[in-house]
Amino acid sequence: MAVCLDAESIEKRFPTPGDDLVVLRDVSMSLAKGESAVIMGPSGSGKSTLLNILGTLDSPTRGRITIEGCDPFELSPRDLARFRNRHIGFIFQDHHLLGQCSVLENVALPTLARMDGADRSEDPTARARALLDRVGLADRLDHRPAELSGGERQRVAIARALINRPSIVLADEPTGNLDRATAERIVSLLGDLHRDEGATLIAVTHSQVLAGRFERRFDMVDGTLMSHEVS
Ligand code: ADP
Ligand code: MG
Repeated sequence: MAVCLDAESIEKRFPTPGDDLVVLRDVSMSLAKGESAVIMGPSGSGKSTLLNILGTLDSPTRGRITIEGCDPFELSPRDLARFRNRHIGFIFQDHHLLGQCSVLENVALPTLARMDGADRSEDPTARARALLDRVGLADRLDHRPAELSGGERQRVAIARALINRPSIVLADEPTGNLDRATAERIVSLLGDLHRDEGATLIAVTHSQVLAGRFERRFDMVDGTLMSHEVS
């Protein structure tokens, strides 16, 4: 199967007044298009740091990543921003929705930032409406995030992450603030959408139950990723 994401010997160190803080020592992973993977590990083990690098928000101090055959860190800042907007969808623990915008605007917003002219003829809100319908929020389009429950806000965040048909969806503890039943529904929805959309999905969670829903599992141990191949 075609490779979507390849990370090779990723190191990330942060300077401190003393020795550098080495958070990622040697992380390698390769995911095929459409695969789903979960990353587990204790708090502070570097999971978010890795997700930020895979999402091109932060660069590694050593090593290389390739997404859809491209090394994003060789791009100019402008091209990198375009690449990220086109290829990567993020879902965060605390949703990061814009409080002053409606649900529909929050989801449609990333399409406005697209600079490649794709789908210009299409109503920019058509896909946003379809996705919001898919996550069960068709009747909440005009509501503000503050008027929604935590689970509903994460549904909006999922729709927003998928709006530009990204190659990769990165979810950093997407259910960390939700009760267990809501968390299971959100992960189930994420799984269904990831399958329908054909995106590669990488999620971080502390829940063993939720982790069981993913095709591949990695544990962050001492700055490296240990793979648990599921037979
Ligand atoms: P996790 O997501 O697994 O809880 P993080 O990736 O957030 O862990 O953090 C891993 C370690 O890296 C922590 O010790 C954290 O303090 C440190 N760290 C993260 N970002 C920075 C930064 N920008 N500067 C310095 N240290 C950082
Ligand atoms: Mg984290």
